[in-house]
Amino acid sequence: CIFCKIVAGDIPAKRLYEDDALIAFHDIRPQAKVHFLIVPKAHIETLKTCNDSHTELLGRMLLLAPKLAAEQGLFGFKTVMHVEREGGQEVFHIHLHVLGGGPVA
Ligand code: 5GP
Ligand code: ZN
Repeated sequence: CIFCKIVAGDIPAKRLYEDDALIAFHDIRPQAKVHFLIVPKAHIETLKTCNDSHTELLGRMLLLAPKLAAEQGLFGFKTVMHVEREGGQEVFHIHLHVLGGGPVA
């Protein structure tokens, strides 16, 4: 899994945050001036595989978004989580997209 390799440091990424459970890094194909991903270190395939044991982790992912967005200079932003191929998911290791700052130049 590509995101497990980024978590492990085997593939480089422009990281902006790390704690015991989460990392955040800039998307390699940004869809906005600021576009980063908040990713749990644990491999979880989709939001559909989450259950009550993931409540705290999912809450931490969402609550990290405004903190990192502010650090990136954003006043407002959009969060997106794709679920399954039908929902636009390409990497099957859950991640929250955070986008803002207007369209890519
Ligand atoms: P998904 O469509 O699964 O929600 O989004 C996957 C995202 O991961 C895409 O926006 C894609 O550009 C990004 N991505 C895929 N591979 C890499 C990578 O190796 N490094 C980084 N930084 N982003 C990646
Ligand atoms: Zn993974």
